Parts: sequence; structure tokens; C-alpha cells
Amino acid sequence: MAIKYIPEPFRIKMVETIKMLTREEREQKIAEAKYNVFNLRSEDVYIDLLTDSGTNAMSQEQWAGVIRGDEAYAGGSSYFKLIETAQDIFGYKYIQPVHQGRAAEKVLFGLLLEEGKYSISNMHFDTTRAHVELAGGRAIDCVVAEAADPAKRAPFKGNMDVEKLESLINEYGAEKIGLVIMTVTNNSAGGQPVSVQNVRETAEICKKYGIKFCIDAARYAENAYFVKQRESGYENKSIKDIVKEMFSYADMFTMSAKKDTIVNMGGLIGIKEDEELFQACKARTISFEGFTTYGGLSGRDLEALAIGLYEGLDESYLRYRIGQLEYLASRLDEAGIAYQSPVGGHGLFVDAKAMFPHIPYYEFPGQALAIELYKEAGIRACDIGSYMLGNDPDTGEQLKSKFEFTRLAIPRRVYTQAHIDIMAEALIAIKERASEVRGYRITWEPPILRHFQASLEPINK
Ligand SMILES: *Cc1c(COP(=O)(O)O)cnc(C)c1O
Repeated sequence: MAIKYIPEPFRIKMVETIKMLTREEREQKIAEAKYNVFNLRSEDVYIDLLTDSGTNAMSQEQWAGVIRGDEAYAGGSSYFKLIETAQDIFGYKYIQPVHQGRAAEKVLFGLLLEEGKYSISNMHFDTTRAHVELAGGRAIDCVVAEAADPAKRAPFKGNMDVEKLESLINEYGAEKIGLVIMTVTNNSAGGQPVSVQNVRETAEICKKYGIKFCIDAARYAENAYFVKQRESGYENKSIKDIVKEMFSYADMFTMSAKKDTIVNMGGLIGIKEDEELFQACKARTISFEGFTTYGGLSGRDLEALAIGLYEGLDESYLRYRIGQLEYLASRLDEAGIAYQSPVGGHGLFVDAKAMFPHIPYYEFPGQALAIELYKEAGIRACDIGSYMLGNDPDTGEQLKSKFEFTRLAIPRRVYTQAHIDIMAEALIAIKERASEVRGYRITWEPPILRHFQASLEPINK
């Protein structure tokens, strides 16, 4: 039996019409898109699960805030509202808005990293890794081993391997480590949470060696909800108190606000108390983003973001949000469909290798499943596997990913139980005819980040 669906803790006041094309039309559209889901027009997609980033539905309070937003160049009231809200939630002295997460990384990492320095993280998100490298540094991932086993159900598969972290610090030398980054939740490992204990232990190691500790905070609220559910001692704490404790162990954070703060655009930098670092951040913000009191955003964005920071902490919302994922996961359990388990906070990562054992990694099982989902039900998901990973930059050979996932990322407050059922039913229908599904070959690809632009064709054997 599937678990009970947690009812939506809201009602719907404004709607956006979506439509499902016929199967023939979908087959034609995906062929025209050269079998690359990024080439589809969103109007041809029925349920869009490409990402949970910036695809959230704002509340009536946020839309009212859009009207109230103060568009002053300097010292606007929406700016002060945002700063006070973020200080209240995270307990940091200094807060700087920026236009999105990667802007926070660009502003901050340039001050902490340089040629010959390393950043160690439970797992670097793609743009985080890119900004470590653009600053001259090198990125090392240090996640616990159980993250690599999709079938293993452990409560905190996003954690840092703290023993390995300490041995890496000793191996490279503490003076070479510019930064330790804790990504909450661990996006690249499938939205898996990190325990408060793990954050505290990581902080202790950083302190011992005098290394700066940064939280990559995109999904801080979902992470706190998992802590409340799964970590002993936190059952009776509020989400806000858990967030505050978690952030108290770090020195700074970067945040993409396009995720848990339920807006469509925005980002933040937080610095606990280092005034000199904050001054340097302000200077770089002015060059890259705009004056410090708007940071690349409109006043209306700052206002909606300030409101969303509190809404994202609401426990009945989080129960529904995580409940959607758990309901979908339980329907897949019933049908014997494998995924990165237990299911994470922002998406379900289907194990396409298990679904299509006859498709080798170089024929892209994760991409094949993404295309089948579109053909089956107009659902847009994406490959997180060898297709996304690309080629070895030295040999040009296709790399073999540890996982072949198809990610169904769930936008916040956008889809209902009926939509979630369509996702489950589409996957079940595809599983029933799995042996007929064929792999793909690439007919054209750009040299880097190819998955956004490549053209493919089905292999007919
Ligand atoms: C989305 C994301 C980022 C980058 O943020 P953008 O707003 O897309 O620039 C960084 N880290 C993590 C963990 C993310 O999920």
C-alpha cells in the first residue's frame, strides 16, 4: 500500500493552463528537439520536472510584496526588511543579497581561494565547483560512502565523511585548504540531508585547523525538516531553531534563494562576524551585481524573498512538500522501481540502470528514461548520469558515471496529488515495456556542458 498523500496546506487562487499533447505530437516534438529535453518548448510539456530551481509558486503574501517592493537604488525598505529577516533566521551579523546562488559563489570564493588552494565539500554542486575552479582552486568531494549505494536506506546520506576530511587536510596541509563547504541538502547525492551532528563535527575539524567553514544553503529548510524527523534530540525543536543551530557552527553561507525560499530569482551571502571579509564582499558585489542594497535584484524581488524566507520554514508546508516525494517513492516501492533511497527533499532520482539493464552507460539509460517519460505522459525530467557527465577532457572518451539516474525534480507548491499519480503511473507503464526501450547515440555535441545542447538519435537494433 502506498502511504497516504499529505493534503496541500493551501488552496489555489490563480491557475496556469497546461495541456497534454497527443502521443503522436509528443513523439514528433521530442524528435524535433533532437531527443534533448532542453530543446523542448515548455508549452509542449505537461508536467515540468526539469528542475526545482526558480520554478516555485509564490504565495499571495509574496505577490502582495511584489507590489510593495521599494525600487530605490540605495537604502530601500525592502532591502532592510530582507536583512532583518535573514539575520533573525540565520543569526549572522552580515547579509548581502545577490541575484542567484552562483553570484554568491563568484563574489565570495574569489576572496578565499587562489591558485594552489583546495575546497573540500560533502559534494560540490556544478556551479560551486565551477566557481572554485574559476577562482584558481580545486574542488574535492568528501561524502560518506553510503551515498553511492542507491538501495541503502540511511537517514543522512548527504553527510561529510569527517575522518576522510581530516586525512585530506593532513595530506594537503591545512594552509592549502581555502574553504570547507557543507551543501545542505546534498543536491548532487540526490537531495540527501546532512545531520546537525555532522555539521558540528565538520566545524570542529575546521576550527582545529583554522579553516573557514561555509554552508551552501540552497535547501536549508528541507534539511532542517529531515533533521526534525530523523535526528534524535530534535523531534521537539522548531524548524527555525534547527536552522539557527546548524548555521551557528559555520562562518559564512552562500545561498541560491531559487529553491527553499520559494521565489523565482535571488541569492544571499551570509557572514557571521568577519567584518573585513564582509567589506571585501560588498566591494565585489558592487562590481559584479550592483549596489549593495539591491545586489542585482529588483526591490520587488527583495520583498518577495524576505517573505519567502519565513514561508519556507513553515512546518505544515514542509510536511506536505516532503510528503509529496515520500508518497511518490512509496508508489514506486510498490511497483518495484529502484531510486536513490530514501527519497531526498527536492526530487526523486530513478535508477535508470536498474530499469534498463540492457542499455550500456555509453547509450545513456538516464536519458532514455527521460525521453520515455516525455513520450509516455508529457513529463520533462533529466539525465543525471553518463550523458550529463560527458567525455574525458584528455582522451575524449565517454566517461562512465557511478550512477545512471533520471531526476524528477519537484517545483514547490506547483503540482497536486493527481500530477504525482501521473508521474508514478508513467514510470510503472515504462517499466512494463522496459525491455523494448533502446539507447541513444550523440550525433552532435559541444565541447563542454554538452547535455544542455547536444543532439541525439535512437539506436535501432
Ligand atoms: C542551485 C544551486 C546552486 C546555484 O544556484 P543558482 O541560483 O542556480 O545560481 C548552488 N548550490 C546548490 C546546492 C544548488 O542547488
